[in-house]
Amino acid sequence: MSLAENLEHLEEKIQNACRAAGRARAEVELMAVSKTHPIEALREAAALGLTLFGENRVQEFNEKALHAAAFRESCKNEAIRAHLIGHLQSNKAARAAEVFDGIDSVDSLKLAVRLNETAAKLEKKLPVLLEIKLSTEETKAGLDPHSADAVQLLERLPDLAQLEVRGLMTIAPLGVGDDGTRACFRALRTLRDRWAQAYPKLDFSVLSMGMSGDFPLAIAEGATRIRVGSALFGARSYPVQA
Ligand SMILES: *Cc1c(COP(=O)(O)O)cnc(C)c1O
Repeated sequence: MSLAENLEHLEEKIQNACRAAGRARAEVELMAVSKTHPIEALREAAALGLTLFGENRVQEFNEKALHAAAFRESCKNEAIRAHLIGHLQSNKAARAAEVFDGIDSVDSLKLAVRLNETAAKLEKKLPVLLEIKLSTEETKAGLDPHSADAVQLLERLPDLAQLEVRGLMTIAPLGVGDDGTRACFRALRTLRDRWAQAYPKLDFSVLSMGMSGDFPLAIAEGATRIRVGSALFGARSYPVQA
């Protein structure tokens, strides 16, 4: 199936999920997750009207598009944005801050400080999401919301002037069934409500949750951004490294 057909089917499912949840379609932003796909696929998606792209590796995006501004220019669309959604090590933070329009996977104070430093040098404001780990899976990246690290990060973020906190991101654990997945998304929303009260200087309006296999559940639980890869671009041809 073509990208245009995939997008049409996806759009219908998003609209159905919004309707079922009593939400307006405009409340849910679609991020096209283009990792592993060539630059031509991104351009084709942009030509179909998609403007927000998610990539999970700094180097891969750098190789295929140079950086987000170059991609935006090549598509001749000022609205286009490319964000990093994959795990970021602090030693690659400088490059990531340069290459992307936003970092949706901030999960430590050390990383936030590095991103802030580079953004300051580049004289650029960098929108960020905090990636939250809500499952006990050992391998999952993300910040434990009940940890001392989380408190430290939240207290320091208002001083990191180049970073614009926009909200939270999570990946649901695998193999927990629909109820477990939904509980995870609900937990992210509850956490957001709690942190929005406790840290009024920070903006938590974005809830990035839900992928190809589970976005209707995420929409039901209040997602404002869903991250869809395979349902748009087709199956990835090789496994992705974090
Ligand atoms: C790959 C990826 C997605 C998209 O996954 P699909 O199942 O292909 O839709 C979403 N979020 C993150 C963080 C990813 O790494």
